[in-house]
Amino acid sequence: MPDKSVVYISPGHMDPEYTLEKAGLGPDVDLRVMQSPERGYMDGASTREADAIMTWRTRIDAKAIDQLERCKLIVRLGVGYDFVDIEAAARKGIPVANVPDYCTNEVADHTMALLLSITRGLPAYVDSVKQATNRWEWSAAGRLFRMTGKTLGIIGLGRIGTAVALRAKAFGVDVAFYDPYIRDGMERSLGLRRLELDELLAQADYLTLHTPLTDLTRGMVNSDFLAKIKHGAYIVNTSRGGVLDAHALEIALREGRVAAAALDVMPTEPPDPELGLVKAWRTGEEWIKHRLMVTPHSAFYSEEGEVDMRVKATKCVREVLDGLPARNVVNMG
Ligand code: NAD
Repeated sequence: MPDKSVVYISPGHMDPEYTLEKAGLGPDVDLRVMQSPERGYMDGASTREADAIMTWRTRIDAKAIDQLERCKLIVRLGVGYDFVDIEAAARKGIPVANVPDYCTNEVADHTMALLLSITRGLPAYVDSVKQATNRWEWSAAGRLFRMTGKTLGIIGLGRIGTAVALRAKAFGVDVAFYDPYIRDGMERSLGLRRLELDELLAQADYLTLHTPLTDLTRGMVNSDFLAKIKHGAYIVNTSRGGVLDAHALEIALREGRVAAAALDVMPTEPPDPELGLVKAWRTGEEWIKHRLMVTPHSAFYSEEGEVDMRVKATKCVREVLDGLPARNVVNMG
């Protein structure tokens, strides 16, 4: 008979039988699945009795956390945990863990795919071939520049930032980074250039964002930041939409300070249709044509990664139910 209860706030698009989770948790656990809309809100009352909570992108605020009576762990099935009030959980002694490593390669690949697409003019080329059957123009994307020898500036040299750095080196790119929390010497181990933020902005031909969304990084890429970048730089964001101010990016694109941008994440998802940048892009305004690419927060996705994520999150819960310390805790100490 199950004597433990785990609530799974599920996105609903995975295995409807929850085979991996049930196998990993074992017969003494009652797995209670609650369907949640993307970024929905966790109702504390229905999770009051849970020994652990597994969640996808559901907002879990202080009020909901306060109602938990037995919870020993909240696991976020994913990397970013900005929609869980981790401080409120810490005050209540509940560790919050993420699954930091299930999609490092996918996000790094997606970042490179976006960077290569905008620097090689793919949106314009694909569009031009599609528009007219008799058109076959190598010049349809306007002026393009050689990637080899250019400087890529990575902001946030964590798991994904490092994986991007290693990939970019294979393209002959000079890779520099800004990350105040990385131990001295990592730049030597990885053969990268470590710079202060202003130096990085002044030197980078391409910028890619890989920080978490925190009070310090929210709106970090704003008009002041964009005023300091190299004219005609390219920007990729696969981190969190809130790190980049979409209005400031719109102005920088209009002014040509940013040549092109590729975003997998937006301040609200799906993006507000009234957001100037998105509206101009969707309605095909000339100034933004082929200079913006948007993907639907899909950088993390692969079939293998999804399995890893579920198995790792389940293992983390099982260990805590067995009295072991939680792994990948993001809110204690
Ligand atoms: P990580 O924790 O391994 O690395 C983050 C790095 O950012 C750390 O090295 C940290 O020191 C650095 N950092 C923190 N604040 C900084 C600041 N103010 N300036 C510069 N650097 C700072 O995280 P990760 O696994 O590499 O994930 C990076 C980002 O990617 C997160 O925002 C995560 O939510 C996001 N992500 C997105 C997807 C997607 O599908 N688009 C998938 C996974 C992760």
